[in-house]
Amino acid sequence: MVISLKNIEKYFEHGPVKTFVLRRVTLDIREGDFVSIMGPSGAGKSTLLHLLGMHDSDWTGEYWLLGQPVHKMNKRDRMELYKQYFGFVFQSYHLLDSLTVYENLDIPLSYRNIKKSERESIVCDALDRFQIVGKRDLYPNQLSGGQQQLVAVARAMIANPKILLADEPTGNLHSAQGQQIMEMFRKLNAEGTTIIQVTHNERNAEYGNRVVQIEDGWITGERTAAA
Ligand code: ADP
Repeated sequence: MVISLKNIEKYFEHGPVKTFVLRRVTLDIREGDFVSIMGPSGAGKSTLLHLLGMHDSDWTGEYWLLGQPVHKMNKRDRMELYKQYFGFVFQSYHLLDSLTVYENLDIPLSYRNIKKSERESIVCDALDRFQIVGKRDLYPNQLSGGQQQLVAVARAMIANPKILLADEPTGNLHSAQGQQIMEMFRKLNAEGTTIIQVTHNERNAEYGNRVVQIEDGWITGERTAAA
C-alpha cells in the first residue's frame, strides 16, 4: 500500500464552534493507482490533498505512507518524506517569483542526488516537452496563467515522483492543452507513479482508475473510472 488513511478528521474552531472539514476519512491508495477526487465546492477536496502532501499537520487519525506512520512524525521528517516522494501541483501554482522558469524546474531535482549536468538535460527536456523553451529565462509574473500552470505541472513531474498530487491541474488550460497534460499523467502513471488529482472535470476523471466522491467532508462513494 502506498497510502493508508484511517479515520482522518480535521476541523476548524471558531470560539466554541467546531466546523468539521474532513470526517472519518478512511482510504487506501495502492501502488499504481490514478485516483480522481470529485465533489462539490467546499467539500474538503483541497484540504484532503494538502493533508496528503504534508502541508498540514493539524488533523487527527492515522496516515501511513509506504508503511511509515506520518501521524507520529514531526514536521521535519514529514518534509523529508515530501521531498523524497512527492510532486505537487498547486491550484494557485506556487511558483517561486524570484526564480526563472528554468530555476523553478530545477528545484525538485536539487532535492535528489543528481549531477548538475544531468539536471540540466532533464530541465531542458521538460522545457521541450511542455513547449515552454522560449520561456526558460522569464519569471513567473511574466507568464500568462496558463503558462504558469504548465510550469507548475512540469515542476511537479520533473523528478519522477513516486506520488503525484494535483489540485485542478488543468483548470487554467484550454481543453487541448488540458488533455495533453492528462495524457502525460497517464504515461507517468503507466511508468509507475501513483497519482491523486482533484478535479471538477468529468473527462479528466476518466483518465484514472478510481473516482472518489467527497461531500461535506465525508467520502460518500467510489466508482471505477470508465477508461
Ligand atoms: P474543496 O477543495 O472541496 O472546494 P476545501 O478543502 O478548499 O474544499 O474547503 C473545505 C471547507 O473548509 C470549506 O467549507 C472551507 O470554507 C473550509 N475552510 C478552509 N479553510 C478554513 C479556515 N481557515 N477556517 C475555517 N474554515 C475553513
